[in-house]
Amino acid sequence: MSTLTREETESLIQEVLEVYPEKAKKDRAKHLAINDQSVEQSKKCITSNRKSLPGVMTIRGCAYAGSRGVVWGPVKDMIHISHGPVGCGQYSRAGRRNYYVGTTGVNTFAEMNFTSDFQEKDIVFGGDKKLAKIMNEIESLFPLHKGITVQSECPIGLIGDDIEAVSKKAAKEINKVVVPVRCEGFRGVSQSLGHHIANDAVRDWVLSNRDGQHFESTPYDVTIIGDYNIGGDAWASRIFLEEMGLRVIAQWSGDGTIAEMENTPKAKLNLLHCYRSMNYISRHMEEKYGIPWMEYNFFGPTKIEESLRRIAAFFDDSIKEGAERVIAKYKPMMEAVIAKYKPRLQGKRVMLYIGGLRPRHVIGAYEDLGMEVVGTGYEFGHNDDYDRTIQEMGNATLLYDDVTGFELEEFVKRIKPDLVGSGIKEKYIYQKMGIPFRQMHSWDYSGPYHGFDGFAIFARDMDMTLNNPCWGKQTPPWKAVKPAEEAKAAA
Ligand code: SF4
Repeated sequence: MSTLTREETESLIQEVLEVYPEKAKKDRAKHLAINDQSVEQSKKCITSNRKSLPGVMTIRGCAYAGSRGVVWGPVKDMIHISHGPVGCGQYSRAGRRNYYVGTTGVNTFAEMNFTSDFQEKDIVFGGDKKLAKIMNEIESLFPLHKGITVQSECPIGLIGDDIEAVSKKAAKEINKVVVPVRCEGFRGVSQSLGHHIANDAVRDWVLSNRDGQHFESTPYDVTIIGDYNIGGDAWASRIFLEEMGLRVIAQWSGDGTIAEMENTPKAKLNLLHCYRSMNYISRHMEEKYGIPWMEYNFFGPTKIEESLRRIAAFFDDSIKEGAERVIAKYKPMMEAVIAKYKPRLQGKRVMLYIGGLRPRHVIGAYEDLGMEVVGTGYEFGHNDDYDRTIQEMGNATLLYDDVTGFELEEFVKRIKPDLVGSGIKEKYIYQKMGIPFRQMHSWDYSGPYHGFDGFAIFARDMDMTLNNPCWGKQTPPWKAVKPAEEAKAAA
């Protein structure tokens, strides 16, 4: 199907909504929109960050997932206790491929699962004593850890355990940072609140730990914030920030350490990749320490170049020259990638449905390869995310917030994109429909996708997925010939 007009997109939305009962239809209508670049504030066209309707399938995670799974989990030299029943911890363990350097179980622990494994008696009598005991055990079994976080699961909030008091006591005893995080899954609308709660815990228990201590500063000290090093993303980004003359003093939280987090207030500029998950702490550091922050986008050469120049504008001529030098160095490599893959991908249409930043950030990378994003949406975005997305998407394209399984499937059937990029829960549905699919949360088993190195891998993966000969050998159910029709054809 060619690109939809505004009227066609509108009628598509109406048709899809038609199956809902009146109340659900009214609610869901607020979450589906036709993009219009002239709209300045997305709240005029789309509603976001609202509780999902029971019975309407959602793909969201909980506040615990936002804190443990996203923000705190990748801090590699701390031990993150999933405090509560074992299941939440098991599902949040090692799912996101946050790469790190270190020896697992000795000085890095990001892939290990520590849980207080709540039982019925802990719910009845409270888990404070158990938590204190676990911290002691951790200290004797893993003495090289640099701190502990306590990531509360639902029951902790319900029974009212005093994890703050236990943490303070343990911190004194072991003389290390112990951070209680009240991220019980039932809080808020989605994992988004978990990000915010995790940021507040960083503010309250980490950032001022080294106030007044000497730090050997340079005028070029920056941080990378909101990069979780999926498949090595932060490494791919850090390479050229340093090549242009900046010094990255902290990396949050992929391959990050508690010491880096504590040193962050010494930075001259905080560089923010995932706005949704870490804008809160960036704003706090701006208010308290006067550190400016800047969002950047390191997906695809066009956005990388734009971002490098905007970052360089904060600094002197040596950094501005550094940015131009880096852009000139990588340009021929990027042109070679585009020359190889654009002829194979040109004109292909993509539909996305992802989490924090990618529904908008990856659009430029697809465009660099001659592809078009015709539909996009957030699992847990807020209106400030959609404000940014409106400018990136073409007019009359589809926006869908917290889209239901039914809606996304119907949109895909009608628009017939050449590629769907979303998460693991959606992957096999679309593959069985015969539509090429790429996992855009953790890059399937590939990556990095950030930075110049990442773009080459991104282009290869999109080509490998989309132009894979397997799609031609599969007959989607709606094209399958029914036995009666077969018999009729044979007669
Ligand atoms: S909602 Fe509660 S019980 Fe469910 S995964 Fe999140 S923390 Fe665990």
